[in-house]
Amino acid sequence: MIEKTLSIIKPDAVERNLEDKIKSFFEENNLKISNIKKVKISKEEAFEFYKVHQTKPFYNDLCNYLSSGPIVVMVLEGENAVLKNRELMGATDPKNAAEGTLRKKYGLSIDKNSVHGSDSIDNGKTEINFFFK
Ligand code: ADP
Ligand code: MG
Repeated sequence: MIEKTLSIIKPDAVERNLEDKIKSFFEENNLKISNIKKVKISKEEAFEFYKVHQTKPFYNDLCNYLSSGPIVVMVLEGENAVLKNRELMGATDPKNAAEGTLRKKYGLSIDKNSVHGSDSIDNGKTEINFFFK
């Protein structure tokens, strides 16, 4: 099934100029970038975006981080795009990420793990709508 999912290139990766490499990696793996923009969000917007994590101990740091610098938000489209993107990203903690995944290649730590990806079709819709109204 052709799906859409939201991908974010997080501040640590934008700062290291990894934008083009990450975009090419998605395209080489048959995920089309159908919408893209570079933005800087406020801490309030980050709180809203990550509200599913509001009870987690790392919520405040996570929101500070996502709002700390420019990010690139993208809609990825393709066959099984949600799961495909999760596979290309790798595990949340780069230490556990499989060889060849984005987080293995570029992630610095569990918090500076370079990319975000929606974890379900429904959350993908909500997240796409958050950035591309
Ligand atoms: P993912 O981004 O792989 O979907 P989660 O949705 O569980 O992971 O968490 C959202 C983000 O919160 C992660 O990408 C990571 O940056 C951060 N995070 C998750 N777990 C921790 C943790 N134990 N300590 C610090 N930051 C974390
Ligand atoms: Mg998640």
